[in-house]
Amino acid sequence: MISIAIDGPSGAGKSTVARSAAKRFGFVYVDTGAIYRTIGLAAMNAGADTKDPTAVEAVLPTLNIELKYIDGEQRMFLDGKDVSKEIRLPEVSMCASNVSAMQHVRDYLTDMQRDLARKHNVIMDGRDIGTVILPNADLKIFLTASAEARAQRRWKELQAKGITDSFEEVLADMKKRDEQDTERKAAPLVAAADAVLLDTGSLTLEESIDAVCRLIAERTGAKAVTA
Ligand code: C5P
Repeated sequence: MISIAIDGPSGAGKSTVARSAAKRFGFVYVDTGAIYRTIGLAAMNAGADTKDPTAVEAVLPTLNIELKYIDGEQRMFLDGKDVSKEIRLPEVSMCASNVSAMQHVRDYLTDMQRDLARKHNVIMDGRDIGTVILPNADLKIFLTASAEARAQRRWKELQAKGITDSFEEVLADMKKRDEQDTERKAAPLVAAADAVLLDTGSLTLEESIDAVCRLIAERTGAKAVTA
């Protein structure tokens, strides 16, 4: 099986790039952030303080989380309900960042992620895929861009969804999550020593996708199945 790890901070374009590249090569795209978001949502719904490790740990055994592919798209289910849209709300982003700093939450999800890579050719995106989850990935890419460039993209996405947070709020939120993700003890956001660094700040989406696809083809010999 071929596995590609794409890590980097939020808003660098990981999910769009990874999803498109997976389609091009006929690989399975795994959005690991969506899994952390689902746990953040579950903890929030349970009324737990998502910054309190004990409260979050108590929620874990009650969790009923499923990851399914419907028409080739990853969807997240919580207690049988499709929560794929709900997990994108800004308040859930912060809860996801909070719970993802907890080692017991990360341990809880390790097997789920590795299992997908054992069964399928995958492009998996996240924060610790190249460093912790798939240390033997065929190719590791660290996608990044300045906080301003990333916040600009995220703000446009949210606007398109009708969410009216201001640019300043989105930027502040992004910087706070960057700080939490980078400074945490459990699997901090850091490029793997053998990752290829790609700054998407001055690239269009198409250029970023092409750059990643070129790297995948060169490194693994995989052939595109769609344009
Ligand atoms: O990628 P996304 O923004 O959807 O991730 C939501 C949150 O989940 C991030 O802020 C990060 O804290 C956490 N996360 C993580 N490890 C991953 C994927 C996401 O800690 N592999």
